[in-house]
Amino acid sequence: MFVSDKGFIPDNFKKELNEIGVPYEEGQHTETLIYNADEVIKSPGIADTTPLIKELNTRNIPVINELEFAARYTQAKIIAITGTNGKTTTTSLVYHLLKTAGLDVAVGGNIGTSFARLLTEKDYAYAVLEVSSFQLDNMFKFKADIAVLCNITPDHLDRYDYNLQHYIDAKFRITNNQTSEDVFIYCADDELTINNLNSHQIKATRLPFAYDKELALGAYTKNGQILVTTSTEKQNLFTMYTNELALKGRHNAYNSMAAAIIGQVLNIRKETIRESLINFQNVEHRLESVSMVGGVEYINDSKATNVNSTWYALESMEKPTIWIAGGVDKGNDYSLLKEMVKEKVRIIVCLGLDNRKLHEAFSTDVDMIINTTSMNEAVHVAKQMAKKGETVLLSPACASFDLFKNYEDRGRQFKKAVRDL
Ligand code: ADP
Repeated sequence: MFVSDKGFIPDNFKKELNEIGVPYEEGQHTETLIYNADEVIKSPGIADTTPLIKELNTRNIPVINELEFAARYTQAKIIAITGTNGKTTTTSLVYHLLKTAGLDVAVGGNIGTSFARLLTEKDYAYAVLEVSSFQLDNMFKFKADIAVLCNITPDHLDRYDYNLQHYIDAKFRITNNQTSEDVFIYCADDELTINNLNSHQIKATRLPFAYDKELALGAYTKNGQILVTTSTEKQNLFTMYTNELALKGRHNAYNSMAAAIIGQVLNIRKETIRESLINFQNVEHRLESVSMVGGVEYINDSKATNVNSTWYALESMEKPTIWIAGGVDKGNDYSLLKEMVKEKVRIIVCLGLDNRKLHEAFSTDVDMIINTTSMNEAVHVAKQMAKKGETVLLSPACASFDLFKNYEDRGRQFKKAVRDL
């Protein structure tokens, strides 16, 4: 084993490597050492197009990713969750469900701890893994017993040669190596998923979920209820009211249905599934209700870094909304939000260095659009504008790095500014 990091290795990791006697280098890649390897485990952050990786390919030295590596060392039933939006929420919800059911379960991957590190503690009966599309590259034998594809909308296209099909194909890799014993859960309302199902060889049993559309197998909503059937036997039907779900909004009904399907597949008691979906505490920065100030509710959805996730946030608003939006735009098509903005938003507070596109897109749809350049200013302006009974929603539809370190920093600054009002 040899670790090579072109960046700098934090002291705590160096200490660990020293303790277990693994040699390492930092600030450089010594090619002679790397080309000597039998196998290379690549961080998902390094693109396949970097010269070093290309050279490894030419030399036929296998390049794998960390999940592929870790999966060799576990007997756990693997539940792997991918998609453009909803991964973290669904992963956390499924983990909560399995934990509540008393199962021996670990959670990790793209959130929290890497799978390999989890396995250094002990093996588990179940592993719930959030998997980004980058983590699906360099995957060969990895198999999910249960695979979930939340949805596919354009994102990260820079890593896929600006070719949407490459991104779609990457997402479908979650079904690789699955057999008819395994399960594939996906959204039957998601166009890109549905249009690409048949061009991928999927051997797993399909259990889709949909909104207001009856399905023979899988989950759907009807008359304010979710109904879940994972086998043709009648007693297998699970139902509950959507207004009981801890997570609000249509997108979260999808996430909850995915979790309920998994609960049914694993034969978890219906009572436990219901209880878990009712008492789940949402993950920070995802439609997180911060507080009520002067009859106005403030909601932090800082994790909404693309148009699609903001669409769902706006859709779930039940009161006239002051919408705080903007930041670094990754080629957003705001026309997708136009109808929703007309219906739900009264005033837009822009928070970014360049807000021209927001003005162009929505100037005729709302009463007012105001520019701000700091979170404190945005929150104060929103407070001045909001009337009693309205909602202030931070759901930027953009990345955060023009004014903030990351979306967490943006969300925390929002919450602090609200609490200081
Ligand atoms: P990810 O881990 O895939 O980035 P998160 O669960 O962190 O997804 O949610 C990111 C954002 O996407 C949140 O702001 C949320 O409002 C929105 N979102 C969550 N679930 C879905 C879904 N199923 N479809 C569309 N948007 C969603």
